[in-house]
Amino acid sequence: MKIGIGYDVHRLVENRDLILGGIKFDYEKGLLGHSDADVLIHAIMDAILGALAKDDIGKLFPDTDPQYKDISSLKLLDHVVELMEQMGYKIGNLDTVIICEMPKISPRRDKIKNLLAEHLKTDPDNVSIKASTSEGLGFTGEGLGIEARAVVILEEK
Ligand SMILES: [Zn+2]
Repeated sequence: MKIGIGYDVHRLVENRDLILGGIKFDYEKGLLGHSDADVLIHAIMDAILGALAKDDIGKLFPDTDPQYKDISSLKLLDHVVELMEQMGYKIGNLDTVIICEMPKISPRRDKIKNLLAEHLKTDPDNVSIKASTSEGLGFTGEGLGIEARAVVILEEK
């Protein structure tokens, strides 16, 4: 069994789509990044890569590489899941937190959970998507960015 932790932050800016957990949210701003800047999936990938003691996503998918420009993070996740399987592991369970004031995550939580479980090749019961605010404090509280954290346990296949 292996455990990994992942953390990511992206800045909220105008004229970008907001993609969280592979789902497009209807919101006035979106996350800035080289890929689609899906902060939740990035934290999840880093948790899996951390458990495997591999390079983080910044090294695996460099933001200077044009092939990753605006790419869906679900595709990057598929790559990480393939690597995990090649090394002989599967998801035990995954717990995550998205920290932002807006948009509200809860109405779309099940959709995110089911979509991510499919890409992680695990049962939705092994995937937890939580959302929290920071009570108006700091950059997430002021709506300047969104933060995500993930913890994963991998089991031998
Ligand atoms: Zn990121």
